[in-house]
Amino acid sequence: NNDKINILRKYKIVFLGDQSVGKTSLITRFMYDTFDETYAATIGIDFLSKTMYLDDNKTTIRLQLWDTAGQERFRSLIPSYIRDSHVAVICYDITNKKSFNNLDKWIKDVKLERGDDVIIVLVGNKSDLSNDKRQVTIEDVEKLHRSIGSKFYIETSTKANHNVKLLFKKIAQSLPEFE
Ligand code: GDP
Ligand code: MG
Repeated sequence: NNDKINILRKYKIVFLGDQSVGKTSLITRFMYDTFDETYAATIGIDFLSKTMYLDDNKTTIRLQLWDTAGQERFRSLIPSYIRDSHVAVICYDITNKKSFNNLDKWIKDVKLERGDDVIIVLVGNKSDLSNDKRQVTIEDVEKLHRSIGSKFYIETSTKANHNVKLLFKKIAQSLPEFE
């Protein structure tokens, strides 16, 4: 059967969250399958594209990943990136309670721009440190998830390469056309 239809869909995904929670590392792990210990602050906003093929063999999705900088001096730029995004991936560091408490601020920014017309995903990164340094529990994020109506939450480690592929797979599966 050769009447295969190829469909290309493009989606914009914005990564939000405090500085140093691992936004750039998540994108880098997904794009290049590497991890870098050294910290290089993202300046302003960057984007990268990744093409994924869905299991139906007919649909190609192009994810445009927008990496943002958490520093205050770039905060004013962020609303314009949120405005036309399909998905907001809001990240915290499971070893940093403050980064979790600040999620309210990021969620507010997203809701201000998009109301409920956006997919919100909550990502708790650095799960490799969960044994001795964990400050945020799964119950904490479960509760937040229920109160804000996010699509799903997940814990990841870009260092140990844990759940990063799954995160992007779940994002792809929650995109409007594929539910
Ligand atoms: P961003 O500011 O949110 O983009 O954060 P980065 O991706 O630049 O990461 C900040 C720091 O955390 C860097 O030193 C990374 O190497 C480190 N890091 C990122 N992800 C992980 C992780 O899953 N586990 C551990 N242990 N460190 C991580
Ligand atoms: Mg960064």
